[in-house]
Amino acid sequence: MTAKSVHRGIIVICAIICFSAGLSASPFDHFFQDKTLRIDYFHIGTASEDMVALDDMYIIDGWAGPRASKMSALNLGHYMLRLYDAASGKLIYDYTYSTLFNEWQTTDAGISGQTGAIHETIRMPLPKAPIRVELWKRDKSNAFTIKFHEQEIDPASYHIRKEAPANDIQVFDHMINGPAADKVDIAFLAEGYQHHEAGKFLQDVKRMTDALFAVSPFKDRRGDFNIRALFKPSQESGTDDPREGIYRNTILNSSFNTFDSQRYLMLFDNRSIQNMRDAAPSDVVCVLINHDRYGGGGIFNLYASTTVDNEWSEFVFVHEFGHSFAALGDEYYTSQVAYNDFFQEGVEPWERNVAANIEKGSIKWKSYLSRKIALPSDWKKAEYDQMRRNHATHIADLRNANTPAEEVAAAIAANQQEVVDFFRNHKLRDKVGAFEGAGYADTGLFRPSLNCLMFTRVAETFDPVCHDALVEVIDYWSSDGANSL
Ligand SMILES: [Zn+2]
Repeated sequence: MTAKSVHRGIIVICAIICFSAGLSASPFDHFFQDKTLRIDYFHIGTASEDMVALDDMYIIDGWAGPRASKMSALNLGHYMLRLYDAASGKLIYDYTYSTLFNEWQTTDAGISGQTGAIHETIRMPLPKAPIRVELWKRDKSNAFTIKFHEQEIDPASYHIRKEAPANDIQVFDHMINGPAADKVDIAFLAEGYQHHEAGKFLQDVKRMTDALFAVSPFKDRRGDFNIRALFKPSQESGTDDPREGIYRNTILNSSFNTFDSQRYLMLFDNRSIQNMRDAAPSDVVCVLINHDRYGGGGIFNLYASTTVDNEWSEFVFVHEFGHSFAALGDEYYTSQVAYNDFFQEGVEPWERNVAANIEKGSIKWKSYLSRKIALPSDWKKAEYDQMRRNHATHIADLRNANTPAEEVAAAIAANQQEVVDFFRNHKLRDKVGAFEGAGYADTGLFRPSLNCLMFTRVAETFDPVCHDALVEVIDYWSSDGANSL
């Protein structure tokens, strides 16, 4: 066979394959291109009302998300995007998420009637034909019944920006296991690292990644993830610390004291985050903040943030990842938070790991319950609470007496050991039941297990309910076919 006829043969085979592919084009290929449509908008309103004001739209090469799955099937998040083909009215994509706006609504400022405005972004595969975008939110019973925004978009419109992403962001492939469409793509963003600290950032990415993949279900699913580190230098190191009068010029404008809660460390400069994110394929975002004080945060499908140089940074990262990746709720109830009634009394939370209803036949994790476990499960809560109060009083007394730092640290370590022993020796330590105290509420809300990474920092695992919620989200981002549209 001559070289020419080999070429001709290849062309014929290619034509047959291409033709048959055309006949069996997936619904995704029928409706979408392999690009991302990014819509930026301001989410504006009060505690009781909200509206959306469009800011800008962008087309970015590549779509990192799944081709055929429906996120609404997971029933997570405060908001839902529904995308319809305008001509046929067919629902062709959906997505659910939470925001800083819905958190702001539960702060003192939100409740007092002030108007807030938060910049947000939603991303979707770029449609081939005009679409109708709808935004929905949950009603008082936590069902997605309220449509609060509707908009027609023609993807061919010249109003949509098509400029190339900024080329001043360095992208490092930390772990690549396959094409973006088939994997959970995590983008780590550098915040508060100066030019000479790029190497430190990559070390911090490695440390946080190792911490995440030391825990199930992540350690069992490592091959389903891609991890990239995105670096742009900040002018100064660190982050803002308003209560200390410290303000740093950093690339993503993070700050301690979000919503006036000292260790809540979030970023309101959404446009800078999204511009950095555009430099590489990503499904989920983590922001590493170059600071040594305890702090961070995590919001479902927004990002997880943490400082990197605190002794608890690895724990904080994995915990915040639980919030941002699978919308897991906080299981603790003792710390000060910025929210008022984040979980409405008498309403079943939609979070998988926090329950108000604990009837044996209908509790949301009923298929996980241990045999013969009583609901609520008596976990010696009064004894635990008294132990924690004693610890707090003891440490406060030492500090008031100007005790040397090493002695205070030793006392904190001894207290922590007492907490570890309480959990380790507890007869319900491996059981699933209904443990009172969760979601910032001392009473009335329940968690599935005695301890979990969403409850205390001495936990080493996610409880079985959290574990399986995380698995479902890994499946969503890494595979096609389930819950097809
Ligand atoms: Zn938390």
